[in-house]
Amino acid sequence: MNAVNEIKNKSLVHWFRNDQRVSDHEIISRLDDFTGVSAFYIHAEKYTDQHPLQFDCLSKKRKTFLNESLSELAAKLDTLGVNFKVFNNTRELQESAILKAKTLTYQRCYSTEERKQEAAVLELHTGDVYTFDHFTLVDQYNLPFELHQMPKTFTPFKNKVGEFGCYSETISLPLLPQNSISFELKGGENPALNRLKYYLYDSHLIAAYKETRNGMVGTDYSSRLSPWLALGNISARTVFDYIVHYENTVVSNASTYWLIFELLWRDFFQLQLQLHGDAFFQKGGIQRKPISYKQDKRLFEQWSYGHTGDDLVDANMRELNATGWMSNRGRQNVASYLIHDLGIDWRWGAAYLESQLIDYDPASNYGNWMYIAGVGHDPRPFRKFNTRGQAERYDADKTYRNLWLK
Ligand SMILES: Cc1cc2nc3c(=O)[nH]c(=O)nc-3n(C[C@H](O)[C@H](O)[C@H](O)COP(=O)(O)OP(=O)(O)OC[C@H]3O[C@@H](n4cnc5c(N)ncnc54)[C@H](O)[C@@H]3O)c2cc1C
Repeated sequence: MNAVNEIKNKSLVHWFRNDQRVSDHEIISRLDDFTGVSAFYIHAEKYTDQHPLQFDCLSKKRKTFLNESLSELAAKLDTLGVNFKVFNNTRELQESAILKAKTLTYQRCYSTEERKQEAAVLELHTGDVYTFDHFTLVDQYNLPFELHQMPKTFTPFKNKVGEFGCYSETISLPLLPQNSISFELKGGENPALNRLKYYLYDSHLIAAYKETRNGMVGTDYSSRLSPWLALGNISARTVFDYIVHYENTVVSNASTYWLIFELLWRDFFQLQLQLHGDAFFQKGGIQRKPISYKQDKRLFEQWSYGHTGDDLVDANMRELNATGWMSNRGRQNVASYLIHDLGIDWRWGAAYLESQLIDYDPASNYGNWMYIAGVGHDPRPFRKFNTRGQAERYDADKTYRNLWLK
């Protein structure tokens, strides 16, 4: 495969995947370099499937958020003269003529299912192929080490990347909207930029992020950028550039640093997925640890409906089912409870969050689940949370639990 910046004067077809934006985009930012560009998106093969554990592989809320993103993208591409089609599967792609005699470009994605879909698309295409890796803040070609020599745990990874400052540069930094609204959980580049503006410059919530980030009530305790980052409605490097701008023009403190720190956790899991591939989705994880779990569907169902009898877990699962969202604090607790209190296979829990979370991302979801299960590379053998202690610490007055359990 070739580097995209080598392409000039060709007719392209771009396959949108988790790069659903027009700004800071490798192809769309350089439309004048090509003789013509058309584009397409293909839904995941399991888009309409039921999981063997009897829930939709993609919940309605996930589909709505994704389809909002695709509609906004289609409208923006239309104004740029780019014809954009959405296919339900690779059969529909095959029946169309869109790939014919064109150069194909796309962003690489690394989960097992995404690589299968990539292989299926490449079978249908006979022309040149150019790919890029712009999902992360630090891409694998700018690392201060070879990918296979990546530190196994997060702290040395973060220290090395920070020390060498090898963050990728934006191609074109999008302007933030003049006016913004506080929170609109809708897929697309415009709502993403709105949220970024609100979280930084309108509310200055970012300046207290380190103190608020363990919250569970409302929409302002953390950036809430993850759903848009997952679809690529906004790039991590755009978020990074605006945080740095905020630090240079408003305030730089432990909280502004901490948001960058969290973006590096995201990169850590993305790069680990690139390195370890299929092992991310297997029971023994990247440690390939022999491990056994109960196959108790009744207990799993109680957990997924929010009927375990543990207040904190139940409140979080009900929030997830009602909204497609759960805080990071909640995710850690529900995952720990399923694995360490109920003894159930972490992949069942990961598949359920995959179906429900509007910010679902393979590396972040399965990477975090592996960590809690103790099958990722973590200095601790596993992460077990005492959910009752956590409830007392983070929801002492029961505001959160009352919100979802009453
Ligand atoms: C069991 C479990 C499953 C998870 N599944 C997903 C998932 O499918 N998709 C997803 O984006 N995140 C996932 N996370 C990570 C984290 O919970 C969310 O990224 C975060 O809660 C999103 O809220 P925010 O955007 O307000 O984050 P903020 O706290 O504002 O952080 C800013 C950004 O940093 C990144 N980030 C923060 N924490 C993490 C983390 N632990 N791992 C990776 N990236 C992180 C996200 O991109 C986030 O948007 C999961 C965590 C756990 C424990």
